[in-house]
Amino acid sequence: MLIIDCHGHYTTAPAPHQDFREAQINAFKNGQPLPDRPHISDDEIRESIEQNQLKLLREREADMTIFSPRASAMAHHIGDEKVSQQWTEACNDLIKRVVDMYPQHFIGVCQLPQSPGVSISNSINELERCVNELGFVGCNLNPDPSGGHWTSAPLTDKSWYPFFEKMVELDVPAMIHVSGSCNHNFHATGAHYINADTTAFMQFLQGDLFRDFPELRFIIPHGGGAVPYHWGRYRGLADMLGQPPLNEHVMKNVYFDTCVYHQPGIDLLFNVIDIDNILFGSEMVGAVRGIDPQTGNYFDDTKRYVDALNLTDEQRYKVYEGNARRVYPRLDKTLQGLGL
Ligand SMILES: [Zn+2]
Repeated sequence: MLIIDCHGHYTTAPAPHQDFREAQINAFKNGQPLPDRPHISDDEIRESIEQNQLKLLREREADMTIFSPRASAMAHHIGDEKVSQQWTEACNDLIKRVVDMYPQHFIGVCQLPQSPGVSISNSINELERCVNELGFVGCNLNPDPSGGHWTSAPLTDKSWYPFFEKMVELDVPAMIHVSGSCNHNFHATGAHYINADTTAFMQFLQGDLFRDFPELRFIIPHGGGAVPYHWGRYRGLADMLGQPPLNEHVMKNVYFDTCVYHQPGIDLLFNVIDIDNILFGSEMVGAVRGIDPQTGNYFDDTKRYVDALNLTDEQRYKVYEGNARRVYPRLDKTLQGLGL
C-alpha cells in the first residue's frame, strides 16, 4: 500500500523565490515594471526538499505528497491580476521542477492566478497549462481572493461555473484553500483557514451546485474545518432548508483531509465522516510546525493518529491510497505509469 499525503506545500522554497516576490510587490507599489523571475539552481531546490519535506516524508514512512505552492503566500489580494499571474506561474513552475526531480515522491497541484474582482474564468488558462503541460493533478481554489474580506460570490454562484466546467472536463479536483489574511480579525491559519473550510461546506449545503455538476470534486482541508464537530447542526440545517440529506446532497462530491492535529480530533472525524470521504493529509511542512509537549511528537504528524485508529486493512487502504486515486484520477494514471 502507498501512503499518499494529499496536502503538502512548498513552504521551504529557496530564498530567491521569496526575494523575487518581494521585489515584485515593491515594483507594483512603485509603479515600476515587474522584475524578471530569479535563477534558482537544482541544488537549491534539492537542498530545500531533502532537508524538509522529503526527510519528514521518509521519517514518517509515507511515500508521496500531492504538492502545491505555499498557500499563505498565494496572497491573491496583493497587487493586481498581472502580479498574481506572474507570481502564480513562478510558483507552479517551481513545483514542476520538484516533481521532475522526485517523481516518485511528489506530484503537482497548482495555485491559480486569482485576483479580487477578476473573473475566475481568467484562471482557466493556468489550470489548463498546469494540467495539460506540467502534468498536475488538481488545483487549490481560493474562495476568498480578497484575503479575509469575502468580497466574492459564494462558490455556488454561476460566476464560478466556467471554471468548474473546465475542472470537470480535465477531471481534476480542487482543494478549497484560502491564503493569507489581510483582515486582522482573522489569523490566517488559526481562523481564516478554518472559517473558509466551514464556510465552503455551508455554501455547498445551501446551494445546488452538485446537481449541476455531479462529477465535480472538492477537498475541504484541515479536517473539514468545524464541520465534523458540528455535523448534527449541518444535518439539521439541511433538513430545515429543505435540502436532501448531506450524504446525497454534498458528500458525493466533497472530501475532508486528516489535517487535524490531535488524536481526539481524528477520532471524531472518523466517527462522524464516512471513510470513503477521508483522505490522508498532514499539511507538511505547514501551519503548525512544533512538537506537542503532551506526546513528544510533531503536531502535524497526522499519520500517527490515523494509525492509532485500529482501522481494517480495507479502511487503511482507502484513507492512505484508494480515495486519493479515486478523487485525483490523473494521480492514479501517473502512478500507474510509474508502475505503482
Ligand atoms: Zn494547506
